[in-house]
Amino acid sequence: MAFDYDLFVIGGGSGGVRAARIASGEYGARVGLAEESRMGGTCVIRGCVPKKLMVFASAFPEAIAEAREYGWDVTPGPFDWTAFRNKLEAELDRLEGAYRTTLKNAGVTVHDERAVVTGPHQVRLASGAEFTARHILIAVGGWPFVPDIPGKELAITSNEIFHLTALPKRALVVGGGYIASEFACILHGLGVEVCQYYRGAQILRGFDEEARGHVANAMQARGIQIHCGTDVMRLEKTPEGIRAVSTDGTDREFDLVLYATGRRPNIAGLGLEALGLELGRHGEIPVDRYSQTAVPSVYAVGDVTGRVNLTPVAIREGHAFADTVFGAKPTTFDHELIASAVFTQPEFGSVGLSEEAAREQEPIEVYATAFRPMKTLFAGKPDRVMMKLIVSQATRKVLGCHIVAPEAGEMIQLAAIAIGMGATKEDFDRTCAVHPTMAEELVTMRKPTRTA
Ligand code: NDP
Repeated sequence: MAFDYDLFVIGGGSGGVRAARIASGEYGARVGLAEESRMGGTCVIRGCVPKKLMVFASAFPEAIAEAREYGWDVTPGPFDWTAFRNKLEAELDRLEGAYRTTLKNAGVTVHDERAVVTGPHQVRLASGAEFTARHILIAVGGWPFVPDIPGKELAITSNEIFHLTALPKRALVVGGGYIASEFACILHGLGVEVCQYYRGAQILRGFDEEARGHVANAMQARGIQIHCGTDVMRLEKTPEGIRAVSTDGTDREFDLVLYATGRRPNIAGLGLEALGLELGRHGEIPVDRYSQTAVPSVYAVGDVTGRVNLTPVAIREGHAFADTVFGAKPTTFDHELIASAVFTQPEFGSVGLSEEAAREQEPIEVYATAFRPMKTLFAGKPDRVMMKLIVSQATRKVLGCHIVAPEAGEMIQLAAIAIGMGATKEDFDRTCAVHPTMAEELVTMRKPTRTA
């Protein structure tokens, strides 16, 4: 059977774009890609990129306060949200353009409309056009999930936060994960009074407990009110704002309520029933190591598969798919040992096992330190940096590294190389320190803090 395309990709985000570019540009496949929104997906348009720019914007008041301590005669003026937002939008336009140029240069045919699956080799576009393809790649990503509480329509999600017409005075952030914790810090940095409600006992569940505590304490010390064990029962409109009636028995009023209570696969109305796939509990598309679904012609990469929901992971999955299917190089991506950073203030970088997970696995040594770093100590600030290595007693390999510090994301990227190569504690010890830095503590911790 002659197909219209060798590959049809649904979704122009990190995973879909990489797969399309490699399949077409490197391996000469005839590739079509449909995107219903803006090219670039969550990461570029409403995620990592605009978020990081907001992180930068929100850090200036602290930097200006520090500058004064270093002798500079500066005072912070007001923050012009509209000017920043317009510049942010222009930057996203530029990036979207770059994505489109990349796809065009790779020979990918882009369809700027929604596509749904109508069979193992068929897709239909919103305009009614139908195409056949030897392979279909589903890379539609995720979508914010908001629990079904009365008044949920009064809340916004991370999709809307970048488009606010004005910054609120008082904000409630609901959730304790990456997005909630990052936006609590961003909004606080921009001068908003921030409350964060989290239903569990400590924010950032799943990460190393000591590190979670360190991040939460630092956020609270900066003035963010974190209420753990607290959830919203309902939201009500008031003349002044939005009232949040909570499980802790309080009613508080806010100007903005941001829900960051997880993301779910974006599969509504995608036509997956035509494939007869059995989906996961939240709609994840199950795939094998090669990102192939139970329907041999259909693959899926990125957040829609619910493996590890991070942009670099989707990119690697998309690339491995293209190498496997069009490059005759069967390639898998290893989901173990993926480093990540939470862009709170202070930042939190992490790779490998938490102390708690490692302890379950085998006998370990823990090397941990917390200290006041030179730069902020000089400025008279109480901030402490935390660094922690989890080491296997049997193999001496470093099983996990957790850093809470300015630029922890940059540091953990490099630590992840060593740990991925199987570095032992003695390899760390043998490495000469770079002085004076914060990261030198990683190679100078000589005595275990505890064994377990
Ligand atoms: P997360 O899964 O990280 O966090 C969701 C939070 O919402 C958790 O604290 C969870 O609580 C809470 N929650 C879930 N359901 C409910 C509910 N019904 N009522 C109240 N609270 C609820 O999701 P995010 O939305 O923060 O981020 C989505 C994904 O995006 C992340 O998993 C991450 O992979 C990725 N991401 C990565 C970033 C980075 O690398 N820096 C930045 C932003 C996002 P509980 O812990 O109790 O389940």
